[in-house]
Amino acid sequence: MPTFDLKTIIFMSMLLTFMLSMLLAITRSHHKDTSGPGYWAVGNLVIGLGMVILFSKFESTQWHILPGVVLIGLGLGLFINGIQAFSGKTVRRFLPILIAAVLTFLNIYLIQHHHDLRMVVIGNALIFSIVYLLGARLTFGKDDGLVGNLYWIASSLFFMMALLLIARVLSAFYMESDLFKSFLDWPVNAYTFMLACVIQFFVSVLFVLMLTAQVNQNLQSMATVDSLTNVFNRRGLQDAAVKMHAICKRIQIPMSLLLVDLDHFKKVNDTHGHLAGDEVLVVVAKTIKTTLRAGDVVGRYGGEEFCVLLPNTSEQEAVALAERIREIIQLKKISIRHVKKSSQSVNELKVTVSIGAAGSESTGYDVQRLLASADNALYMAKNRGRNLVATHAGIATKTH
Ligand code: GH3
Ligand code: MG
Ligand code: MG
Repeated sequence: MPTFDLKTIIFMSMLLTFMLSMLLAITRSHHKDTSGPGYWAVGNLVIGLGMVILFSKFESTQWHILPGVVLIGLGLGLFINGIQAFSGKTVRRFLPILIAAVLTFLNIYLIQHHHDLRMVVIGNALIFSIVYLLGARLTFGKDDGLVGNLYWIASSLFFMMALLLIARVLSAFYMESDLFKSFLDWPVNAYTFMLACVIQFFVSVLFVLMLTAQVNQNLQSMATVDSLTNVFNRRGLQDAAVKMHAICKRIQIPMSLLLVDLDHFKKVNDTHGHLAGDEVLVVVAKTIKTTLRAGDVVGRYGGEEFCVLLPNTSEQEAVALAERIREIIQLKKISIRHVKKSSQSVNELKVTVSIGAAGSESTGYDVQRLLASADNALYMAKNRGRNLVATHAGIATKTH
């Protein structure tokens, strides 16, 4: 059986853990909107401190187990808090304290009543295995994509650690009492602590990777999503249009496009204020979005202008949808929270939209041509009095 120099292993892993904590802390200071790394950084340091205390004073008396074990429990609780924060769950802040309290009482009780170290080892290993199982449960089957894969690895590592601790319980249970006299030489110790250190190190690396993946995801969505209305921005629209265009052209299905522009929106701003105008834009974007089918795409094309991309939709179907959007918006009473003082406290207002529609049957699949055709139609709808739907062939709205 190989023997490990436990103290060297602990020292090395503490050094690495400390470096990772620094990394997590730096990341946290740069991405204040991502919660989790702060807990992990502090958790790592607390666990490290616990390990150092556990091993520096181990041989003298059994009481020296207490602070080390409690600190490790506290640190693991903070790790769990970090996972909760990172995955957007409610952070159970009492958890680290609860784990620490249970460990404190258990150790005090066992050290006082059972002079055999065996019971202390079994009790602590059981509590820690429960904590690791909780970690495995929290990271199991979350998300998809890169973050999901990393969660899956973290979950497996936590589960392995829980199994390892259960093995420790069993081997302590069947061990002859004498072996505990020289606790540090107990081979199971070497295996448990070395693997615990390695797993903790791995999990910390995983957290750093998860954080990077999430920051990337956020950046990507920031670049393609409009922050006010939460629909695609112009760039997101462009990406979607390129993909949709390629697919529709390849399998030869029609594709249509709508340009939706709010009527006299400048007046809304002037009368009710810019903030009220913003609220109207949010409601209109949401209304358009809920009217669409899965696979349709909406984005903010300009200030108060939205573009809708419709795959597998003929120009005629696009006009019918445009009419539906126009009517829903026309009837909608929009509640406004930000009311301008001078506007006599109106907190419900109505707006209308004009819509230009174009389909690939008449213009071809080229997105620029679809856009130009829809823009011309929109211009026509505005000229003919607004609150209308138009195509290249003329006004499509019957009466209103
Ligand atoms: P029309 O019926 O011809 O479209 O008239 P309009 O007033 O809607 O069009 P115009 O292009 O003259 O004005 C657009 C207005 O939209 C002007 C601008 O202040 C407003 N706008 C653009 N972006 C935003 C925004 O993000 N928030 C708010 N509140 N207003 C915006
Ligand atoms: Mg307008
Ligand atoms: Mg406009």
